[in-house]
Amino acid sequence: MILILLGPPGVGKGTQAKIIVERRGIPQLSTGDMLRAEKESGSALGRKVQAIMDRGDLVSDKIIEEIVTARIEQPDCARGFILDGAVRTVPQARMIDRALARKGRKVDVVIQLEVDEDELVNRLNRRIRESRAKGAPVRADDNEETFRKRQKVYRDQTAPLIPYYEGQGKLRKVNGMGTIEEVAQAIDDVLNEIRG
Ligand code: AMP
Repeated sequence: MILILLGPPGVGKGTQAKIIVERRGIPQLSTGDMLRAEKESGSALGRKVQAIMDRGDLVSDKIIEEIVTARIEQPDCARGFILDGAVRTVPQARMIDRALARKGRKVDVVIQLEVDEDELVNRLNRRIRESRAKGAPVRADDNEETFRKRQKVYRDQTAPLIPYYEGQGKLRKVNGMGTIEEVAQAIDDVLNEIRG
């Protein structure tokens, strides 16, 4: 099963992706995690994307094409995978559709997690407080100002994916306001339904 998790930054896509990994045994492909690993390793790519990511903008579709097309060729993706925050613009969605079509594959379902922006900012501030209390590092783009910028980038550049996938009949909306387990259950119900 090839599944896309769509929703604004901080909605819980990463948390839910990890639960799906556990339950369904398919890998999570998070371009955010891949790019952060590049930043941390100090690679040429990491240096190129650092400032863009830190200010909350999107890296180029070309970079995403390179890292996603290489990753989905890996053997662990043969049974399917979860694209977590990995499709952020309509050109990226078209590129992934084309890359999959070349292999005779397709996206099965797009789950849109819905939550309101004020609740996301509350969650962010709670997460920052908890990380600081534990002495854990806080991401460079996890501060209220950059977070609000990332929400705007989502509304402007990523939300057009909603009609794109609606047009393909693949979009399923899930309320992201419940507990982690409630949201996980709602996603599970959708996945069971599409598997039939
Ligand atoms: P995330 O962890 O998914 O919120 O991603 C963190 C940052 O990585 C984003 O704010 C972007 O700068 C960059 N990024 C991750 N995925 C993409 C993507 N598919 N397209 C463009 N930029 C991305």
